[in-house]
Amino acid sequence: MQMKVGIIGSGIGALASAIELRKLGLSVTVFEANDIIGGKIVEQRIGDYRFDMGPSVFTEPHLVQELLQALDPQQTFPYHQLDESCRYFFNDGQQVNLPVHKDEVAQTLQTEFGEDKAAALHFLSQMEANYKAIYPVFIQISLHRLKHLLARPLLKALARLFQYGLHQTMHQQNRQIFKNSKTIQIVDRLATYNGSSPYLAPAMLNIISQLEFNEGPAMPVGGMVQITRRTQQLAAQFGVDFHTNERVLEILHQNNIIKGLRTAKGNYEFDLVVSNMDIHYTYEQLMPTIKAPRHLLSQEKSSSAVVFYWGMNRSFEQLGVHNIFFASDYQAEFKAIFDTKTLHPDPTIYIHISSKVEHSDAPDGKENWFVMVNAPINVGQDWDNEIQLLRKRILAKLTKQLQVEIEDCIECEQINEPRLIDARYSGKQGSIYGNASNNAFSAFLRHPNFSKKIKGLYFAGVTVHPGGGIPLAINSAKIVARCVQEDYPSLRK
Ligand SMILES: Cc1cc2nc3c(=O)[nH]c(=O)nc-3n(C[C@H](O)[C@H](O)[C@H](O)COP(=O)(O)OP(=O)(O)OC[C@H]3O[C@@H](n4cnc5c(N)ncnc54)[C@H](O)[C@@H]3O)c2cc1C
Repeated sequence: MQMKVGIIGSGIGALASAIELRKLGLSVTVFEANDIIGGKIVEQRIGDYRFDMGPSVFTEPHLVQELLQALDPQQTFPYHQLDESCRYFFNDGQQVNLPVHKDEVAQTLQTEFGEDKAAALHFLSQMEANYKAIYPVFIQISLHRLKHLLARPLLKALARLFQYGLHQTMHQQNRQIFKNSKTIQIVDRLATYNGSSPYLAPAMLNIISQLEFNEGPAMPVGGMVQITRRTQQLAAQFGVDFHTNERVLEILHQNNIIKGLRTAKGNYEFDLVVSNMDIHYTYEQLMPTIKAPRHLLSQEKSSSAVVFYWGMNRSFEQLGVHNIFFASDYQAEFKAIFDTKTLHPDPTIYIHISSKVEHSDAPDGKENWFVMVNAPINVGQDWDNEIQLLRKRILAKLTKQLQVEIEDCIECEQINEPRLIDARYSGKQGSIYGNASNNAFSAFLRHPNFSKKIKGLYFAGVTVHPGGGIPLAINSAKIVARCVQEDYPSLRK
């Protein structure tokens, strides 16, 4: 008889799980609490503008194409490969457009910041080698199954153990390699890609340089939303059943074996369940009688964000697809986010403008601005006041740096913030990536992709192993599929 799997949530981790498990021949049903599939990767039209509401930085596009091809080898996933990773603006007026590819990046760091080109090139090559060694052992497998670990790539990764800077934070390593505080700030920023602080996160995370600087970001044709739209469409075409507006209220289990799911509409029987809900809430809300692994769930949470979606009545030549207006005191900003849980008075501002490459996202001569500031998780701050204050500070900073009265350019606006991220996507306290990577052991302190207590229960998405970001969420689903195959050998093809 065909095995049946119920999936809780429809973020990219869930959609990837649906595809991978459908490929194994399972009957798959996805339950989404919201009225739309896609989790945080959804779009919204505000006035005449289109906005991707969540992720904007897209790396490893091949993973989405491979996902689609898992069910239909004819599928392609078109994207723009950007020739700049980001434009950086500093408070002293310096502006630097960073190209992609090692040689060009190293040359720019030398020309703009006086770095030694050979040293920069060496760093970028090291990060490439580290990335290639670490990827198969930390990202593509479960760290919680011996047979995943006992493979040749582990030996290769261990052979480079002393290259990873295990005793250092990202910032400490970057400070040793680069001379100019601006270069250090640019490389340090990569810690925010999984909601962490470069002053606490292990230097191993500098491997993100490989994606940001060496390969460079991409942009799906039609916007980020195509990642979830295309995967959903294909999954539906291959028989995956989608239930929207149907929140899962309980994971049903008996004698430590999965029995199904309960929603407001009733009970559904399933042989397997995959939860894409924040792991914290999965335990708290869906299986309160199961003892949660406290040491994993009590880790510091990743940062949240405040996002302003602004339809701008003009275009800005100085800006590209990705732009950063840096804070002067970066360390103080991270202290505010993680220690005092406040918004720093001089925040680093990220502006993403998809209409630079997807012209139909804004009317002719206008632009869609996604303006984001990293923020602390929600611990009951007075967000209404904080956000109004933040808005004024952002407007003042951008007006000064761009020499244009920014408020006069805003035609329409919407705001996203920690309370809404929690309410809309069930991200614990508005955290975006589950646990932060703010200590040396963080990679080992994420929840496994399977339950050690309940047979048939699995977990996918950014709050579990291997971690934050779209590529890792897709990898979490691949690990789930591998574990399911191992646990139910009759499924093997
Ligand atoms: C503002 C912002 C910017 C970001 N920028 C980037 C970026 O540039 N690059 C990047 O890679 N990542 C970025 N991220 C993180 C990104 O969202 C994740 O990488 C990825 O989209 C998360 O996927 P996921 O599979 O974990 O699930 P999510 O997208 O978190 O989806 C989980 C889904 O489960 C549903 N759900 C929860 N509980 C239940 C329940 N009980 N029953 C039914 N459904 C339920 C929720 O409604 C939600 O739809 C950003 C996130 C935000 C908010």
